[in-house]
Amino acid sequence: MELFDLTGHVSVVTGGNRGIGLGMARGLAKAGASVAVWSRDASRNDAAVAELAELGSDAISVGCDVGDPDDVAAAIGATVDHFGRLDSMFANAGTTAAVAFEEMTLEEWNRVMDVNVTGVFLTTQAAARQMIRQESGGSIVITASLAATFGIPQSPHYTASKGAVLQLARAEAGRLARYGIRVNVISPGWITTEMTEDVQAHDKANQLAMARTPMRRWGTPEDFEGPAVFLASPASQFMTGSQMMVDGGFGSA
Ligand code: NDP
Repeated sequence: MELFDLTGHVSVVTGGNRGIGLGMARGLAKAGASVAVWSRDASRNDAAVAELAELGSDAISVGCDVGDPDDVAAAIGATVDHFGRLDSMFANAGTTAAVAFEEMTLEEWNRVMDVNVTGVFLTTQAAARQMIRQESGGSIVITASLAATFGIPQSPHYTASKGAVLQLARAEAGRLARYGIRVNVISPGWITTEMTEDVQAHDKANQLAMARTPMRRWGTPEDFEGPAVFLASPASQFMTGSQMMVDGGFGSA
């Protein structure tokens, strides 16, 4: 299917060494894209790259803390040095923790904001600058969450961070359309990754999550293969500033 063909396309996936990011990276690789995995854990990055190479992708591992401007500058440099260009940026790296609002420290607040908001700002800005230089457009995809819409009382900083990047995406979409750069958001529901291990293991929380999800199952990293390919490819060429829910219907129930 030409509409979904990513041959010659170069993608970055932050947080691509496991979970949802690795699911996106697998989909991109299967569609023919070269993929740069940007995350901190070098051995996990290498394992992800080996898996993507088996799918036929020219994949590379780039150690990067997305909240660190020097790391992001070095990572975009290494990626463009290797591949010569950049066509899509999946700003997906994220972190959370359960902390009651009244007990939240400024340090914990900043820890989450540095990754989930500043990290998205730095990585999408670096990508946009590179795409503007190339003069051939591009696609930026930000991973938000149901938390961008619904408050999660257990994680107020996470909730605020996801609301922030949903709005950042809309502002970027309006500005970058003039360069042919599209900016969209993927908002996952409850997905089986390390981030949600506690909820999966907690009977009552698990039941509540599934009772609220019309498709009555957890999402998996594989559920992100198709959405990633769609948003990177010409199949979504007139879509920008939109939020794609990949949540088994949670957001509409
Ligand atoms: P995981 O915890 O499984 O993976 C998180 C990824 O982010 C890892 O690859 C990790 O790699 C990377 N990461 C974390 N901090 C940094 C950092 N400072 N710099 C670079 N990379 C970093 O989580 P998920 O796959 O579940 O989450 C992916 C995204 O999806 C996140 O944005 C999350 O908020 C969002 N999401 C997840 C949901 C779910 O149910 N799982 C629901 C809604 C949204 P490393 O540690 O090696 O750096």
